[in-house]
Amino acid sequence: MTQTTTVLVIGGGATGVGIVRDLALRGIDATLVDRGGLASGTSGRSHGLLHSGARYAEADPNGAKECIEENRILREIAGECIRDSGGLFVELPEDDSAYFDSKLDACRDLGIPATELTGTEARERVADLSDTVQRAFAVPDGVVYPSRLVAATAGDAVEHGATIHTHAPVEAMATTNGEDRRIQSVWVGGSVDDEIRAEIVVNATGAWAEHCAAMADVSVPMRPTKGVMVAVPYEGIEPVLNRCRPPADGDIIIPHDEQVILGTTSVAVDDPDEYATDAAEIELMFDECAAMVPALKGRSAVRPYWGVRPLYALDEDDRGTVDEGTGDARGISRDFTLLDHRADGVENFLTIVGGKLTTHRQMAAAVADQIADRLGVTTACRTAEQPLAAADDPAAIDALVDQFDARSPADEDVLTQPDHI
Ligand SMILES: Cc1cc2nc3c(=O)[nH]c(=O)nc-3n(C[C@H](O)[C@H](O)[C@H](O)COP(=O)(O)OP(=O)(O)OC[C@H]3O[C@@H](n4cnc5c(N)ncnc54)[C@H](O)[C@@H]3O)c2cc1C
Repeated sequence: MTQTTTVLVIGGGATGVGIVRDLALRGIDATLVDRGGLASGTSGRSHGLLHSGARYAEADPNGAKECIEENRILREIAGECIRDSGGLFVELPEDDSAYFDSKLDACRDLGIPATELTGTEARERVADLSDTVQRAFAVPDGVVYPSRLVAATAGDAVEHGATIHTHAPVEAMATTNGEDRRIQSVWVGGSVDDEIRAEIVVNATGAWAEHCAAMADVSVPMRPTKGVMVAVPYEGIEPVLNRCRPPADGDIIIPHDEQVILGTTSVAVDDPDEYATDAAEIELMFDECAAMVPALKGRSAVRPYWGVRPLYALDEDDRGTVDEGTGDARGISRDFTLLDHRADGVENFLTIVGGKLTTHRQMAAAVADQIADRLGVTTACRTAEQPLAAADDPAAIDALVDQFDARSPADEDVLTQPDHI
């Protein structure tokens, strides 16, 4: 029996759930499917930095502005999905002091609050910080718990009328023939095991966007890059620690309650589902992060994990961020791209790629604005003002995490355990 919906969103990471929440709040009927649990893609395998924008300030002011705007909004609406840790950018003797100065100036120009500290003042905030830290500046970085953010957003979407199916992979799409093709139906396996017909189909599958688009004979070239993160038992670090140097391996330490998450790297991969993982990558995180916090040396990893960035190849080419020689593909900009596939001859198909966890709400709003426009719906976006329904109750959020099978390596140490464990 065929199911119908106005908008079908494929992919239940932060972007996809953000889109169905936004649509639901505008009264637009929407269904989301994910091949696994929610957050089982990149969102649940990210580092979990709620960017203040400082990381991008000097090189990508637009990206930095998006981050500080969304940072402020998520603090208002996302309650216990966010930890207000603050962040420090620290300078070590081998770091370029001109880089520190230009980043600090850029933050101030962009309105990102930034307070310069001496090395001693920085160590008063983080006792274990290296004696060699010469100076630092404090910014409003924070921590996002991705499983919670995705589950709470999904729960809010359902409360406002959206339908969400987990373990429901899109396996095929049927399109009409001729010049103005349309996606007529989408075959969804697993828990749905049925055909879904929608007026508009959204590809929010992140690093898997190329494969998903190919089912409608549309080309969306992706250039995914993997990054390693390492969870380590460690207490006593309150702010996020960023090494103040151009983005490099192992330059961020994210604090959780009783662990820190060290990361990360950026290496091009061919397939977001199959890539090599190497113990040397884990060791590298200890070596690099111990430059900021020497006591990390000799600690053990309790949970190494890898994630894959959903980078759109054409944007990366524009930015010239890939070093063909080394395969290092660390772009300093993570802006997003919304593709309307009318340009490719498919009338009712959109793809959203790139972006960050921090900016997922803004990405979702861009998609929902376009859909509302097409459907003639004039209700404005409300996601920036309306808090997520369960946001202030960690137990309620964690019940949603279990309901949507959203437990992920990025934050499983902070989630309350289900009753049966
Ligand atoms: C190493 C690393 C560190 C990062 N750190 C940060 C950070 O600190 N701060 C920050 O803001 N951002 C960070 N990011 C970026 C951020 O994690 C991503 O941009 C964001 O999570 C992408 O979300 P998404 O919803 O677009 O994609 P995803 O979360 O990958 O969601 C896509 C979903 O599509 C589903 N899917 C795929 N194919 C199908 C199919 N055929 N049918 C149904 N479903 C399908 C997948 O299961 C997946 O759940 C990091 C990324 C990486 C890789």
